[in-house]
Amino acid sequence: MIRRIPFQIKEIHDILRNAGFDCYVVGGAVRNLVLGTPPKDWDLASNAQPDHVMKLFRKVIPTGVLHGTVTVLYKGLHVEMTTFRIDGSYSDSRRPDSVEYTSSLLEDLKRRDLTINSMALNIETGEIIDPHDGRGDCKRKLVRAIGIPEERFDEDGLRILRALRFAGRLGFSIEPSTFAAMKSRAKNLLGISAERIRMELEGILESEKPSVSFQGMAETGVLRLILPELDACRGVEQRELHLFDVFTHSILACDAAPARDQGLRLAALLHDIGKPPVRGEGEDGLPRFHGHESESARLAWNILQRLKFPSAVIKRVSHLIAQHMFSYDSTWSDAAVRRFIIRVGRENLEDLFTLRTADAQGMRNLPADARGLEELRQRVSSVLSREEALSLKDLKVSGDDIKKTLVLPPGPAVGKILGFLFESILEDPALNEREKLLHIAKNFYTTRLQTGAEKI
Ligand code: ATP
Ligand code: MG
Repeated sequence: MIRRIPFQIKEIHDILRNAGFDCYVVGGAVRNLVLGTPPKDWDLASNAQPDHVMKLFRKVIPTGVLHGTVTVLYKGLHVEMTTFRIDGSYSDSRRPDSVEYTSSLLEDLKRRDLTINSMALNIETGEIIDPHDGRGDCKRKLVRAIGIPEERFDEDGLRILRALRFAGRLGFSIEPSTFAAMKSRAKNLLGISAERIRMELEGILESEKPSVSFQGMAETGVLRLILPELDACRGVEQRELHLFDVFTHSILACDAAPARDQGLRLAALLHDIGKPPVRGEGEDGLPRFHGHESESARLAWNILQRLKFPSAVIKRVSHLIAQHMFSYDSTWSDAAVRRFIIRVGRENLEDLFTLRTADAQGMRNLPADARGLEELRQRVSSVLSREEALSLKDLKVSGDDIKKTLVLPPGPAVGKILGFLFESILEDPALNEREKLLHIAKNFYTTRLQTGAEKI
């Protein structure tokens, strides 16, 4: 195990030891080493307090000094270093009111959330210090709170969501008394800040199958509290191609979207979230969801804003959701393909296709028939390769040309004419030549605008 520890961690350890402090690897890295998967980051715990650490290393970021955490930048590695601590009383199931340092590693391991996260590795000997049988739970594939679960979730409600994240990511079950406490204490999540909840959700979205954690959230009542709009999709049945209710379809679509792209995962998760509020019935008695894409986009916007996602993410996700209901068939004209490209935006096309593939896969939990989408993709790429006009900027005449040629007074007529010219070249790109356009402009002006047939 020691062989797999990066040299920087060993050197940091030696520097602390030489200064008379203890230093252990803790947290996710030890868990991963025990499970035989590569650690993604290295957390260290030490009895050195932040000001000691700052003296020993040149580059130290005071990430959370109040809680005893600093980040050491050492030979290209970012390492979180936390001082051994006992968390004081928690009056609001959020954060300890006070932090008390301790010289005892065992005390520090006791205040951690789950048994599988409470192991420490002695870097010198390779020994694993494991007072809560984290190794046993790794073998049994169990997520279990340390100590009395109700108390631990009262101290910090976020641990409930963390337990769901680890269970989903690792494919572990949740030990029954821990699960019961998660249910009875779910309400504690209402006191947790949006930022902390968002960070755990981001972790869930990165896992291979977020559906497992979302299913657990539904079963524990967590979903109703933090994503009530998604909870409302449970049991909402659909028709025809769909095998599942809207909730199950949504989380399966989320699984099918690429894990490395958080925006696409969010878009897949939320793309049908507007279905419950717009649900109606057709004459055949089957459910209909007219206009659900814009309602979904609106709700997604609210949800992501509430969870304090960055505005670029909010915009991208809502736009993809609003556009997800296109229905291509081979009868689409080239002009229809050009309009589709303009509506979606060239830079969003691949994302939208990926979202649709995930959506289709979520209908039956099987890879979907991609022929229609493939054909549209080819038609889009042939339109793009012909470099036809796709925005007003591409018109071969300008507003000034038109004003001069038609001797127009200042006013909105020019804009109206440009709009008409653009519509014309979308229908027939061959018209995009200066002389032809001026001719069309003249005609449109005299027959439609001057006569009042078309309102300016
Ligand atoms: P990951 O692989 O996702 O980084 P991790 O176990 O390292 O997993 P972190 O969120 O980085 O998780 O936290 C590091 C360690 O700090 C955890 O393993 C756990 O021991 C402890 N910890 C983190 N958050 C809490 C919490 N809310 N309550 C108690 N202990 C916590
Ligand atoms: Mg970590």
